Amino acid sequence: MLGETIVAISTPRGKGGVALLRVSGPFAVEICEKVFYPANGRKLSECSARMAVYGSITELQSNGERLSIDDGIATVFRAPASFTGEDTVEISCHGGILLTETVYTAILAAGARPAEAGEFTRRAFLNGKMGLSSAEALGELLEAQTREQLALAHMGMRGKVEEKSQAIYEGLRDILASIYVKIDYPDEELADMSREEIGEGLSKQADALQKLCDSYRTGHAIMEGIPTVICGRPNVGKSSLYNRIVGRDAAIVTDVEGTTRDVLSETVALGRVTLRLFDTAGLHETSDAVERIGIERAERALNDAELILAVFDGSHAPSHEDLALVERLGSVSGTVIAVVNKTDLSRVGEAYYQEQFAHTVSISAESGEGIDALRDAVEALFLGGQLDLHEDAILTNARQHGAALGALEALRSAQNGLLGDLPLDVCCCAVENAMEALSSLDGRAVSEDIVSQIFSHFCVGK
Ligand code: GDP
Repeated sequence: MLGETIVAISTPRGKGGVALLRVSGPFAVEICEKVFYPANGRKLSECSARMAVYGSITELQSNGERLSIDDGIATVFRAPASFTGEDTVEISCHGGILLTETVYTAILAAGARPAEAGEFTRRAFLNGKMGLSSAEALGELLEAQTREQLALAHMGMRGKVEEKSQAIYEGLRDILASIYVKIDYPDEELADMSREEIGEGLSKQADALQKLCDSYRTGHAIMEGIPTVICGRPNVGKSSLYNRIVGRDAAIVTDVEGTTRDVLSETVALGRVTLRLFDTAGLHETSDAVERIGIERAERALNDAELILAVFDGSHAPSHEDLALVERLGSVSGTVIAVVNKTDLSRVGEAYYQEQFAHTVSISAESGEGIDALRDAVEALFLGGQLDLHEDAILTNARQHGAALGALEALRSAQNGLLGDLPLDVCCCAVENAMEALSSLDGRAVSEDIVSQIFSHFCVGK
């Protein structure tokens, strides 16, 4: 609940030079005043906001006296100028595990309650300090493992996605206001937009929204990772490729058929994209029951994959199993790259695969030759757009994408309604749906906003 004051140890648990505890809520300063005594003799509430003060950290003894347990620094932030938008105190102490726990317990004893996971950020969102996608970006920033993930999370934190969706939202709101005026006052000259102009306005916003939706291909590839399956008949070098990409010997490489019985999985960076890589049992006929289960799993993984690295042994002519796989790959929904392996031995099979597939890369998993070309091919397929990771609004998760897609779908139906000469209020309804979906990107309410916009913008009462 927002009324309560919460505390958490904000630094990771463990021994360190310093630890930081954060206290947020209406009684943050009062509570910390009981624990922290500034060395300048003033009370914490009398200290200037955003100024670090040095002092003594204490805990209450059973005899009612306060015992100094450490010296530290406290910084007071006054609402709304804090991360959460509430009064907040940050206390740094020395970073011992027991010491930090003791300071934490002292703050609890003074009246705070333990913060729940993500509660500071949730409060920041509820208090209007950040939109929903910025809050998500903050989580992504903490999880980031690649420079690209950092760049995207940083842009998200700065509210790029919200800025974009807000601009589209406002564009739609203006159009909606025009339509409403047209409906309510058909005989007056109040409306400044013709039906054609409304159509143009809608398509401008739809284009912007489509671009935002499309950005998810890049955002997803960098942030969430592309579900990727390595497939191919036994012994073509799937495990060798897997290990090459992962960068160590995760899969067992042998020349005994069927050694990979289960589906191995790992999230790895390949150049600037992230792969959620599944190494599967080879797709082939077998009488071994355990192996059969592995193959069934491989089949399922193949259907779900967004990227399929189909490995073939380029040093031999295609076998009937290879031909069956080529055919099977004709019906998958993911993007297929044919990886023609063992080019260090011979390239007799290469031309056939190049003919069959839109994307082929020749490699030697053994020597590592061609892995760079594979990386470039994957990057081109998934980051091929003109997006600037340090500038553009890029959707990074399925929720954002779902909201943006919902908005786009509604907007398309508004456009179709307009083209199909449907009554204007039907179009209004669709535009409102689009706005509602857009506002779910950052969690705003819609209708009151629209109403006040009509009156402020068009002076209808005149
Ligand atoms: P999988 O059954 O498809 O996973 O294939 P493996 O990765 O286990 O490899 C099968 C055999 O082919 C092993 O003996 C590998 O050392 C060998 N192999 C894999 N890649 C290459 C390559 O690029 N060149 C050569 N010469 N041998 C390779």
